[in-house]
Amino acid sequence: MAAAIEAAKRGAEVLVIDANEKAGGQLFKQIHKFFGSSTHGAGIRGIDIGKDLLKEAEDLGVEVWLNSVAIGLFREMTVAVEIGTDDVEKKVEMIEAEKLVIACGASENVVRFKGWTLPGIMGAGAAQTMINANRVLPGKKVLMIGTGNVGLIVSYQLMQAGADVVALVEAAPKIGGYVVHASKITRAGVPIYTRHTILEARGEGRVKEAVICEVDEKWQPVPGTEKVLEVDTIAIAAGLKPLAELAIMHGCKSKFDPILGGWAPVHDENMESTCPGIYVVGDVTGVEEANTALEEGRLAGVAIAESLGKITPEDASVIKADIWQRLDGLRSGPHGEARMKAKARQLESFKEVTNA
Ligand SMILES: Cc1cc2nc3c(=O)[nH]c(=O)nc-3n(C[C@H](O)[C@H](O)[C@H](O)COP(=O)(O)OP(=O)(O)OC[C@H]3O[C@@H](n4cnc5c(N)ncnc54)[C@H](O)[C@@H]3O)c2cc1C
Repeated sequence: MAAAIEAAKRGAEVLVIDANEKAGGQLFKQIHKFFGSSTHGAGIRGIDIGKDLLKEAEDLGVEVWLNSVAIGLFREMTVAVEIGTDDVEKKVEMIEAEKLVIACGASENVVRFKGWTLPGIMGAGAAQTMINANRVLPGKKVLMIGTGNVGLIVSYQLMQAGADVVALVEAAPKIGGYVVHASKITRAGVPIYTRHTILEARGEGRVKEAVICEVDEKWQPVPGTEKVLEVDTIAIAAGLKPLAELAIMHGCKSKFDPILGGWAPVHDENMESTCPGIYVVGDVTGVEEANTALEEGRLAGVAIAESLGKITPEDASVIKADIWQRLDGLRSGPHGEARMKAKARQLESFKEVTNA
């Protein structure tokens, strides 16, 4: 949406396609107030940031197609889009564009354990979609695996939605997310078991019990420490990885970086990938946060307007420098430093593979 707005603002004709029934991505599931700096919407709920983006895009005449999935990219900048939700009514259209932005976000990592395919076991993001987007409680007694910010925030939101969060399990010696989120959970009396993992899910037709246990320094289960918890839902918050298949299948060069969540397409300072005319922004280029995704989108939108001749290179360079300053600000401090280095490596890799 940010890329669309910046390009449309400068006179580009923009079409946004989204697989969901609503544009705006994860923001519409984020009912909590954002963390971060006040210039980046801290204290504002994600859902409200999303609503403002949609309104701005609409006012600028951005065309939005929903329930429309990009299923393939072809040479000559053609995108195959599958439109519709009903199998009978579904159709595929080929869209040609002069420039393309890939902003597909990220997908959830899974953890495999005995019984992990039983109904009732899902990604934490799926549980969050159920409660915050579809108003459906996934279950009444939930075990959360993982205590990064996603695990912590979704646990709290499940509690707000009326579920009993039985416990959180974390293999590391301490929680991964912000203490402020963890405190809300522990204050409600929910135990967070650090140095623990899940061994097994039991049940017939649906999960009924979870077996957890302690782990040693090498994250191996310690025999004799098993605990059985009565649960009907297990949510897994074990990190995210860039949803970069479209870009990678098309031939955009990518690089593996664990800090960014895995394989992600490399890009230049304009967010342009190694395939000319194809830009990559947001979690697709490495899992970060909504604000960095928005700024990267803005960068691509301005760069596209520049390359289409809608804005002079001089004006564009001033705006882009400003955005880069904000991006660097977001990636500074103890939580951002590793990401800052990883993103610098990504820019370097682009230069290496293109010999730029
Ligand atoms: C629980 C939780 C809490 C968070 N809290 C914060 C916070 O407080 N502050 C913060 O800054 N960040 C937060 N984040 C992170 C933030 O939500 C993401 O980093 C951000 O949404 C990434 O934006 P994006 O546009 O790259 O991807 P997304 O928001 O995931 O958007 C991707 C969009 O692409 C669509 N899509 C995917 N594939 C296709 C396809 N093939 N065809 C068509 N459409 C497709 C999807 O439907 C989706 O709408 C949180 C994340 C989670 C899960």
